[in-house]
Amino acid sequence: MALDRQHNKSYSIDSERPRAPEKTAKNVRRYLLILLVILPVLVIIGLQWYSVYSNEKVLLQQARLILNNATTESQRHTERFLNKAIVQAQVGVALANASAINVENFEQIEAHLLVLLEHYPEFAGLSFARADGSYLYVSRDDKSAQSGFSVKYIDASQGAKQTMLWRRHSALADKHEERIDEADNFDPRKRGWYVNAALQKQLVWTDPYVFFTVKRFGVTSSVPLLSAQGEVIGVVGIDLELAELSEFLSELQISQSGSSFIVTDDGVLVGSSGMADEFRSAASNDEAYAINVVYSDYPVPKAAFQTVFSGQGKSSFSIDGKNYLVDSMRVEISTGKHWSIVTYADQNDFLSAIRENEQKKLWLAIAAVILSILLGGLLTNTAWRPVVALEGHANTDVLTGIYNRRFLQARAEELIERAVKHERPLSLAFLDLDRFKLVNDTHGHDVGDEVLKNFVDRIKNQLRSIDLFARFGGEEFVVMLPNLDETDAALAIDNIRKAIHQPYQIDDLSINVNFSAGVATLNSEKNSYAALLKAADRALYNAKESGRNQVVTASEVT
Ligand code: GH3
Ligand code: MG
Ligand code: MG
Repeated sequence: MALDRQHNKSYSIDSERPRAPEKTAKNVRRYLLILLVILPVLVIIGLQWYSVYSNEKVLLQQARLILNNATTESQRHTERFLNKAIVQAQVGVALANASAINVENFEQIEAHLLVLLEHYPEFAGLSFARADGSYLYVSRDDKSAQSGFSVKYIDASQGAKQTMLWRRHSALADKHEERIDEADNFDPRKRGWYVNAALQKQLVWTDPYVFFTVKRFGVTSSVPLLSAQGEVIGVVGIDLELAELSEFLSELQISQSGSSFIVTDDGVLVGSSGMADEFRSAASNDEAYAINVVYSDYPVPKAAFQTVFSGQGKSSFSIDGKNYLVDSMRVEISTGKHWSIVTYADQNDFLSAIRENEQKKLWLAIAAVILSILLGGLLTNTAWRPVVALEGHANTDVLTGIYNRRFLQARAEELIERAVKHERPLSLAFLDLDRFKLVNDTHGHDVGDEVLKNFVDRIKNQLRSIDLFARFGGEEFVVMLPNLDETDAALAIDNIRKAIHQPYQIDDLSINVNFSAGVATLNSEKNSYAALLKAADRALYNAKESGRNQVVTASEVT
């Protein structure tokens, strides 16, 4: 009775169509679709990455070259620029040494310095200081207006110092506004440019600073005038205005954000592209000062400077999420004194165009992939359907829709394997319709077919979902019954036999058909599909012999 209940409980047998073949086909299709999507996407991403990588590499190399050219150009220009002052200071000294200029004759010196001032607009002022404290300084009144020159002369030859001031409209014009400055106590011999040149007995440059009298930013080069014995007779100084260097730097064509600056080892800016105005205003201020990049409010030049001086050879830096390339060159402008030319630019200046291009390419490729996926999907959907259907047909019986013999064999072997592994019982029932030939002979083959279909439906309704039901051939069927031993399986099949005993109503016919069955169960002797089948067949034969419409077990036969 318990078995009866078990049977009723699990009425719901598999749907009419077998699941397994469709499932495999679906899986295969799913993997193919995934492959169809993933493969081109991977290829595109790979190609894209490689293209970006190689293009950017080339472009960055080119960018470095551009930066390096700018640096070199700036370095050459700076050297030429400084050389004007160096040459003139040295020429002055050479003239004095050759006695072409008399160092006692300040009128002659003044004329010489004024001519130079007139010819070199970048000279802010020129000076000659003698060891006794006598001093001559000629400077430009106003650079732009060309309004003339101011002269300051300190006579210290007579012991007591006297400071005279006058002006000239041009180098050769007469003095005017001549006056004595009694308050002046300027001593050139205490100034850095004098002290250092006298000490080192060679040309020196000061650090950039703001010229006090003319309120302009620059550097002073000074050359000592030495006696035959090597004593310092005086020092020639040339104040070189640096604004021109910044102007030159700002004219360099580097890139959109590319900039260049010249800086001392301590961070004092000598010149900078784009900062010429800042220099001018800083210099014209009452509290005139030189700009130190380290303490400035310019984060990018500051980072560039730090990268160059402490970056351990690094040639790029990042700030505010932007990556910059930096190039530099350190040059010795006089013994022990160095300036560095630093050039930097945002990488994006060079890469943005190609990145935009790559992005366009990527969108195009993605569109192509989507299109091909859609087309592919369409194709598989149409092309696959018959394949799936074919696969289904290969495993099912056309008339009844249940599994065929081929599928039964494969599946039965799996079930046997599982039963052995889990040590669970497994039985096989061989069913054969009784005197079916008679149905055909009496009512025709078509009616016979209908009976077969109805019979299959009835059996299916009685089986559990775990049972495997297949058409073996003709009017013969096999049921694999997992978890049931021979007795229970025979009982289950016999219950089914009783449950479906009613006649089949086909059209207006009422046809009475029963079945006989043989049942065998898996054990050490009957341990294969073939053995089970053979034993069940023998039991079936016995059932037929014993009068049909009954279930016989293999154990009863032997
Ligand atoms: P038994 O009780 O001894 O099994 O008698 P039986 O007449 O069923 O046995 P037999 O093997 O002589 O005949 C089987 C018949 O089943 C013969 C065949 O006409 C019929 N049959 C087999 N397959 C089909 C089918 O697909 N459709 C129809 N209509 N008849 C079929
Ligand atoms: Mg038969
Ligand atoms: Mg038969």
